[in-house]
Amino acid sequence: MTNADTPLTTLDAVEITRRLIRFDTINPPGNERPALEWLAGLLAPAGFEIVWQEMGEGRANLLATLSATRAPARAPLVLSGHVDTVPLGNAPWTVPTHEGLERDGRLYGRGASDMKSGVAACVRAALDLAAEPDRAADLRLILSAGEETGCEGVLALAGDKALLGTAGALIVAEPTDNRPLLGHKGALWLHLNHRGVTAHGSMPEKGRNAIFGACASVAALRDLDFDAPAHPVMGPVTLNLGTLRAGLNINSVPDLATLGVDIRTTPELSNARARDLVTAAVGAEVEIETLTDMAAVFTPANDPWMAETRTLAASITGVSAGDETAHYFTDASVLTAAFGHPPTLIMGPGPMALAHQTDEYCETALITACARAFAEIGRRYLS
Ligand SMILES: [Zn+2]
Repeated sequence: MTNADTPLTTLDAVEITRRLIRFDTINPPGNERPALEWLAGLLAPAGFEIVWQEMGEGRANLLATLSATRAPARAPLVLSGHVDTVPLGNAPWTVPTHEGLERDGRLYGRGASDMKSGVAACVRAALDLAAEPDRAADLRLILSAGEETGCEGVLALAGDKALLGTAGALIVAEPTDNRPLLGHKGALWLHLNHRGVTAHGSMPEKGRNAIFGACASVAALRDLDFDAPAHPVMGPVTLNLGTLRAGLNINSVPDLATLGVDIRTTPELSNARARDLVTAAVGAEVEIETLTDMAAVFTPANDPWMAETRTLAASITGVSAGDETAHYFTDASVLTAAFGHPPTLIMGPGPMALAHQTDEYCETALITACARAFAEIGRRYLS
């Protein structure tokens, strides 16, 4: 534990994580701004320029920039994370949810894994880098709101190119157990609305049953061939039918049937192309509503920055990874595309298996190691 009078800028990454857990940023509603204001209070005195992008009541994205000390040799290094968390779930917790309890080398609380530990590692590394006297590139932190409900924060940021700026490389500190990963699949979530005509259940011939239309779509999607080769690392594009909702009562002909479709894309198949193939399969009369549209993110392991960075990270954390990607999608879907596809590393101290779980925790040793790795990656980049 740290005394109350410890200067804020000397807080270690574990303590920063603990303080972040104490802010309830469950989304909805998010209320990320107080947590981000506290982080801005660490970063501003260290020399970071703070810019806010307002996201509504109690919500904002925080952009913090540490300028180069000489003419920049390359575009900025960007470290990114979100500070909102998912709700607690229905199961009771056996540890406090927002205290930052530390026990047996683990720090517990909502967001410990996903991803307040990752944000803390970014911030701790950034504070260390601010002490470097000679910096040949800008360092930027993008600390976002609203990730858990569809990357709303970075979508707003991507819509403001002047605010977004540029990036020569990007790190998103989502939970990977400190394994340096090459990216992740994209996600395209669709609602397929099938319209019919309602009638009394005793006279179905007077109506048109929307369920029959949905059944035709189910059959078509079951056999849909995306005609894209399996990605060498991510594997094939997948499609899941997650929901099917229709009918209000048994004695009426339903006039609406909605299918929920979850497609996971790779760089071999864009989301736009996937959507076109779905449209062609089910027919133009089916209304298609896009709920989530996140691009795949992938940097080859032999990209020079990626190769050097992964080697460096593994030498510090002791954790390496083969040609692997994450199973979830992240803010990188939006940021990497908006920045024009700089090399993008997904790496953070949280245990992947604990994200969104009851009794979420992060190993404190991994938080410390991740912060050290980010600082060293930054030192190499800024030199
Ligand atoms: Zn996350």
